[in-house]
Amino acid sequence: MATEHTVKVLIIGGGPAGYTAAIYAARANLQPILIEGMQPGGQLTITTDVENYPGFANAVQGPWLMDQMREQAVHVGTRVVSDLVVAIDFSRRPFRAVCDGGDVYLAETVIIATGAQARWLDVPGEETYRGLGVSACATCDGFFFRGKHVAVIGGGNTAVEEAIYLTNHAAKVTLIHRRDSLRAERILQDRLFRNPKVDVIWNSAVVSLEGQESPPKVTSITLRDTVTGAVREQPIEGVFVAIGHTPVTELFVGQIALDSDGYIVTKPDSTETNISGVFAAGDVKDKIFRQAVTAAGMGCMAALEAEKFIAAHGSHEASQAAE
Ligand code: NDP
Repeated sequence: MATEHTVKVLIIGGGPAGYTAAIYAARANLQPILIEGMQPGGQLTITTDVENYPGFANAVQGPWLMDQMREQAVHVGTRVVSDLVVAIDFSRRPFRAVCDGGDVYLAETVIIATGAQARWLDVPGEETYRGLGVSACATCDGFFFRGKHVAVIGGGNTAVEEAIYLTNHAAKVTLIHRRDSLRAERILQDRLFRNPKVDVIWNSAVVSLEGQESPPKVTSITLRDTVTGAVREQPIEGVFVAIGHTPVTELFVGQIALDSDGYIVTKPDSTETNISGVFAAGDVKDKIFRQAVTAAGMGCMAALEAEKFIAAHGSHEASQAAE
């Protein structure tokens, strides 16, 4: 049965930003509720080795790290709810969030930590063959391409990491990039170029993906040389798209200030949005750093700012009682 809940700090999103905000809010005795959404753990659940999260001398697994953060949040007093916020009203306090399961949350403060999602190329054939040889997650789907020839599209850290990871499964990995240099970190590039299973096609944009009907699967990729304009078809058995991310902010359109790319705008040196009492942390507001550790740091900031806000404004119940 649908229930109404009153909460001082409602956290939307279960990634490093959300769980860290929850840990800090719970330890400030604010009894936060965290709605963890469709992909608990966020983007780190679709990575393997994490070597750059401080505190671990050896690489840890992304899903394990997120389980630990979640457990830590619960252990210090967070209520984690598996549901999806489908409507939100920031026009008055307490803010009102409605979940897919029907439950309603009346919140003194809201911390938005909904993260970002993989971007797609938006070329003919991509949608047709999604899940039929076309994927945006090598760690999820790489296993299905054992002994095959796959392509990875993109030139950033994600593309290079995915290409290296895929060499564990595939016979050959072709990285396809639209320019003549990668933006990935040098250490990753060195690993990529050293790997005998990897080759790179430079200066090539994807025009379309082609496939067969029975059984349905992708069979080739058509590329346009960005220097000469020449178009060619490359036979391929799998395509991994790794071209960046889009912030998950559809829910907040028209409610909160977003920039031209859809990221939430926050005040300088703060996680506070244009709505007093609503904070944003992690990839949903950060298109520059996008690291688990920076997201976690912002989650901490958001919880501290929410705590300060509640201390300064008092809780809605208290102000109603005083009226
Ligand atoms: P990035 O935005 O860094 O890179 C996206 C890549 O995709 C770029 O090379 C870009 O090309 C290319 N691209 C974008 N749109 C298209 C398109 N339509 N067609 C073809 N190519 C396209 O995204 P990432 O996901 O790689 O990384 C995001 C952030 O996360 C970064 O800050 C990164 O450092 C970080 N990250 C860190 C990791 C780590 O530290 N281990 C692991 C993974 C990510 P172009 O270069 O021409 O713009």
